[in-house]
Amino acid sequence: MLVDSHCHLEFPEFAPELDQVIARATDAGIGRMVTISTRVRQFDKIKAIAERYDEVFCTIGTHPHNASEETDVTADELCAIADYDKVVGIGEAGLDFHYDNSPRDIQAASFRVHIEAARRTGLPLIIHTRSADDATAEILEDEMGKGAFPMLLHCFSSSAALARKGIELGAYISFSGILTFKAANELRQIAKRVIA
Ligand SMILES: [Zn+2]
Ligand SMILES: [Zn+2]
Repeated sequence: MLVDSHCHLEFPEFAPELDQVIARATDAGIGRMVTISTRVRQFDKIKAIAERYDEVFCTIGTHPHNASEETDVTADELCAIADYDKVVGIGEAGLDFHYDNSPRDIQAASFRVHIEAARRTGLPLIIHTRSADDATAEILEDEMGKGAFPMLLHCFSSSAALARKGIELGAYISFSGILTFKAANELRQIAKRVIA
Protein backbone atom coordinates (compact mmCIF):
# COMPACT_ATOMS: atom_id res chain seq x y z
CA MET A 1 0.00 0.00 0.00
CA LEU A 2 1.22 3.50 -0.82
CA VAL A 3 0.77 6.36 1.64
CA ASP A 4 0.62 9.99 0.60
CA SER A 5 2.18 11.45 3.72
CA HIS A 6 1.76 15.10 2.72
CA CYS A 7 -1.24 16.52 0.92
CA HIS A 8 -3.50 19.52 1.43
CA LEU A 9 -6.96 18.20 0.66
CA GLU A 10 -8.76 21.12 2.29
CA PHE A 11 -7.33 23.65 -0.18
CA PRO A 12 -10.25 25.31 -1.97
CA GLU A 13 -9.03 24.14 -5.40
CA PHE A 14 -10.04 20.57 -4.51
CA ALA A 15 -13.45 21.37 -3.04
CA PRO A 16 -15.48 21.05 -6.28
CA GLU A 17 -14.27 17.49 -6.92
CA LEU A 18 -12.91 16.11 -3.67
CA ASP A 19 -14.69 12.75 -4.07
CA GLN A 20 -13.01 12.30 -7.46
CA VAL A 21 -9.60 13.42 -6.14
CA ILE A 22 -9.75 10.81 -3.39
CA ALA A 23 -11.10 8.17 -5.79
CA ARG A 24 -8.28 8.77 -8.29
CA ALA A 25 -5.70 8.49 -5.52
CA THR A 26 -7.28 5.27 -4.25
CA ASP A 27 -7.39 3.83 -7.79
CA ALA A 28 -3.68 4.63 -8.14
CA GLY A 29 -2.92 2.53 -5.08
CA ILE A 30 -2.82 5.22 -2.39
CA GLY A 31 -4.35 3.52 0.63
CA ARG A 32 -3.76 6.29 3.17
CA MET A 33 -3.50 10.07 2.88
CA VAL A 34 -2.31 12.51 5.52
CA THR A 35 -3.78 15.94 4.94
CA ILE A 36 -1.49 18.51 6.51
CA SER A 37 -2.84 21.43 8.52
CA THR A 38 -1.60 24.93 7.69
CA ARG A 39 -3.97 26.93 9.93
CA VAL A 40 -4.98 25.73 13.38
CA ARG A 41 -8.09 27.88 13.31
CA GLN A 42 -9.32 26.16 10.17
CA PHE A 43 -8.98 22.66 11.55
CA ASP A 44 -12.74 22.12 11.26
CA LYS A 45 -12.33 21.88 7.45
CA ILE A 46 -9.66 19.21 7.82
CA LYS A 47 -11.58 17.31 10.46
CA ALA A 48 -14.65 17.20 8.23
CA ILE A 49 -12.58 15.58 5.47
CA ALA A 50 -10.97 13.09 7.86
CA GLU A 51 -14.44 12.18 9.15
CA ARG A 52 -15.80 11.70 5.66
CA TYR A 53 -13.06 9.46 4.23
CA ASP A 54 -11.74 6.44 6.14
CA GLU A 55 -8.39 6.61 4.33
CA VAL A 56 -7.65 10.23 5.28
CA PHE A 57 -5.70 11.10 8.42
CA CYS A 58 -4.47 14.57 9.39
CA THR A 59 -2.16 16.84 11.39
CA ILE A 60 -2.63 20.04 13.35
CA GLY A 61 -0.46 23.13 12.99
CA THR A 62 0.28 26.58 11.61
CA HIS A 63 2.39 26.82 8.45
CA PRO A 64 5.21 29.39 8.80
CA HIS A 65 3.56 31.42 6.02
CA ASN A 66 0.52 31.86 8.28
CA ALA A 67 2.34 32.31 11.60
CA SER A 68 1.43 35.99 11.88
CA GLU A 69 -2.29 35.13 11.60
CA GLU A 70 -2.13 32.74 14.56
CA THR A 71 0.32 34.19 17.07
CA ASP A 72 -1.85 33.12 20.01
CA VAL A 73 -1.83 29.37 19.31
CA THR A 74 -0.52 27.53 22.37
CA ALA A 75 0.92 24.07 22.88
CA ASP A 76 -2.11 23.33 25.08
CA GLU A 77 -4.44 24.10 22.18
CA LEU A 78 -2.41 21.96 19.76
CA CYS A 79 -2.33 19.06 22.23
CA ALA A 80 -6.08 19.29 22.82
CA ILE A 81 -6.84 19.13 19.09
CA ALA A 82 -4.25 16.38 18.64
CA ASP A 83 -6.37 14.24 20.96
CA TYR A 84 -8.68 13.52 18.01
CA ASP A 85 -7.75 10.00 16.97
CA LYS A 86 -7.14 10.77 13.29
CA VAL A 87 -4.46 13.36 14.10
CA VAL A 88 -1.13 11.64 13.43
CA GLY A 89 1.30 14.58 13.48
CA ILE A 90 1.99 18.17 14.55
CA GLY A 91 2.57 20.83 11.88
CA GLU A 92 3.46 21.69 9.35
CA ALA A 93 5.49 24.30 11.20
CA GLY A 94 8.95 25.74 10.82
CA LEU A 95 10.75 28.57 9.08
CA ASP A 96 10.38 29.89 5.54
CA PHE A 97 12.83 32.73 4.93
CA HIS A 98 12.47 32.38 1.18
CA TYR A 99 9.00 33.91 1.09
CA ASP A 100 9.09 35.64 4.50
CA ASN A 101 5.28 35.79 4.50
CA SER A 102 5.39 36.16 8.28
CA PRO A 103 8.06 38.02 10.27
CA ARG A 104 10.95 35.74 11.16
CA ASP A 105 10.68 36.11 14.93
CA ILE A 106 6.99 35.21 14.76
CA GLN A 107 7.76 32.14 12.64
CA ALA A 108 10.39 31.10 15.19
CA ALA A 109 8.04 31.53 18.17
CA SER A 110 5.35 29.48 16.41
CA PHE A 111 7.91 26.79 15.52
CA ARG A 112 8.87 26.44 19.18
CA VAL A 113 5.22 26.15 20.27
CA HIS A 114 4.77 23.30 17.79
CA ILE A 115 7.94 21.61 19.03
CA GLU A 116 6.55 21.68 22.56
CA ALA A 117 3.32 20.07 21.35
CA ALA A 118 5.28 17.34 19.52
CA ARG A 119 7.30 16.69 22.66
CA ARG A 120 4.18 16.43 24.83
CA THR A 121 2.06 14.33 22.47
CA GLY A 122 4.88 12.17 21.07
CA LEU A 123 3.48 12.84 17.59
CA PRO A 124 6.02 13.59 14.83
CA LEU A 125 6.57 17.25 14.02
CA ILE A 126 6.33 17.92 10.28
CA ILE A 127 8.93 20.61 9.69
CA HIS A 128 8.77 23.00 6.75
CA THR A 129 12.12 24.75 6.37
CA ARG A 130 13.25 26.80 3.41
CA SER A 131 16.22 29.16 3.11
CA ALA A 132 16.52 29.07 6.89
CA ASP A 133 19.16 26.41 7.52
CA ASP A 134 21.10 28.06 10.35
CA ALA A 135 18.05 29.26 12.25
CA THR A 136 16.37 25.86 11.88
CA ALA A 137 19.44 23.99 13.14
CA GLU A 138 19.80 26.37 16.07
CA ILE A 139 16.18 26.02 17.19
CA LEU A 140 16.15 22.23 16.78
CA GLU A 141 19.36 21.84 18.75
CA ASP A 142 18.19 24.18 21.50
CA GLU A 143 14.77 22.54 21.80
CA MET A 144 16.16 19.00 21.67
CA GLY A 145 18.22 19.97 24.74
CA LYS A 146 14.96 20.59 26.64
CA GLY A 147 13.56 17.15 25.83
CA ALA A 148 13.32 14.87 22.81
CA PHE A 149 10.60 15.06 20.19
CA PRO A 150 10.07 13.09 16.96
CA MET A 151 10.43 15.03 13.72
CA LEU A 152 10.50 14.96 9.96
CA LEU A 153 12.23 17.52 7.75
CA HIS A 154 9.65 17.45 5.00
CA CYS A 155 10.30 18.11 1.30
CA PHE A 156 13.97 18.64 2.07
CA SER A 157 15.65 21.36 -0.02
CA SER A 158 18.29 22.61 2.41
CA SER A 159 22.03 22.11 2.86
CA ALA A 160 24.08 19.02 3.64
CA ALA A 161 24.90 20.67 6.97
CA LEU A 162 21.24 20.84 7.96
CA ALA A 163 20.68 17.25 6.78
CA ARG A 164 23.58 16.11 8.98
CA LYS A 165 22.36 18.12 11.94
CA GLY A 166 18.86 16.71 11.51
CA ILE A 167 20.10 13.14 11.44
CA GLU A 168 22.30 13.78 14.45
CA LEU A 169 19.19 14.97 16.32
CA GLY A 170 17.14 11.95 15.22
CA ALA A 171 15.09 13.49 12.41
CA TYR A 172 13.65 11.70 9.44
CA ILE A 173 14.24 13.47 6.13
CA SER A 174 11.81 13.39 3.23
CA PHE A 175 12.79 14.05 -0.36
CA SER A 176 10.09 15.03 -2.82
CA GLY A 177 9.94 15.29 -6.60
CA ILE A 178 12.49 18.10 -6.35
CA LEU A 179 15.06 15.30 -6.34
CA THR A 180 14.33 14.77 -10.05
CA PHE A 181 14.84 18.41 -11.08
CA LYS A 182 17.76 18.96 -13.42
CA ALA A 183 19.25 21.65 -11.20
CA ALA A 184 18.98 19.56 -8.04
CA ASN A 185 22.44 17.98 -8.18
CA GLU A 186 23.39 19.12 -4.71
CA LEU A 187 20.20 17.63 -3.30
CA ARG A 188 20.88 14.31 -5.05
CA GLN A 189 24.35 14.29 -3.50
CA ILE A 190 22.81 14.84 -0.06
CA ALA A 191 20.40 11.98 -0.62
CA LYS A 192 23.24 9.72 -1.76
CA ARG A 193 26.02 10.70 0.60
CA VAL A 194 24.45 12.08 3.76
CA ILE A 195 21.41 9.91 4.15
CA ALA A 196 22.65 6.60 2.80
ZN1 LIG B 1 2.63 21.29 2.83
ZN1 LIG C 1 5.92 22.50 3.49
